[in-house]
Amino acid sequence: MNLTDAELDRYARHIVLPQVGGVGQRKLKAARVAVVGAGGIGSAVIPALAGAGVGQLTIIDSDLVELVNLHRQPLFRERDAGYSKADLALQFVHRLNRFVKATPVQQRVDAMNAAGLLVEHDLVIDGSDNFATRLAVSDACVALGIPLLSAAAVQFQGQVGLFCSTPCYRCFVGNAFDAEDCDNCAELGVLGALTATVGSFAALLAINFLVGIGSEQVGNLHLFDGEKLSWRQIRIPADPGCRACGSA
Ligand SMILES: [Zn+2]
Repeated sequence: MNLTDAELDRYARHIVLPQVGGVGQRKLKAARVAVVGAGGIGSAVIPALAGAGVGQLTIIDSDLVELVNLHRQPLFRERDAGYSKADLALQFVHRLNRFVKATPVQQRVDAMNAAGLLVEHDLVIDGSDNFATRLAVSDACVALGIPLLSAAAVQFQGQVGLFCSTPCYRCFVGNAFDAEDCDNCAELGVLGALTATVGSFAALLAINFLVGIGSEQVGNLHLFDGEKLSWRQIRIPADPGCRACGSA
């Protein structure tokens, strides 16, 4: 997939990086990424990936903008209240970068529809706000063989993990949360700048993964403490009894 002169100009600050170059920029252009959730995490991930020139972005979110979202979701403005987040995110992407093909999907991901929505993507980034969605997304990614970058933020704590086949997100959290569909942010609160930090970290990890920069991150979970302002990293062990990836 070649780059046009306009794209070579646009991405010059990427292409000059030895770790990216023309080869890396073409990988970004060829990439098909699904973003589940255009909320706090998505508000950092979607602009970063669109600006970076990821060729195809599918933005999946069933919600409408509410004023209570605006402290952590700078994709949206006050006048957007009541309108579809997926559609507004699409408009944002088109205004930012005409070279990105974005597709909005105004649906809630569940165990029934996840595989159909996520198939034919090279990477899924999950920034949803509840365990039922995260587990449905994870199970579908395992079944489809698609790498999953999971990012979450609540209160002052954030986590970002990259999963590919096994270990999977279900190995990490277990089976107890399948019916857990509470909105963590509504119940527990979240700092807006925290979701921006965690979402930007997720976007960086996604770009590194797509281009092939840095060390292997599959199976690593990065944890951010927004009070101590520190990151730490742990390995996720595979659960041999995991009902999603255990027999993989
Ligand atoms: Zn698993």
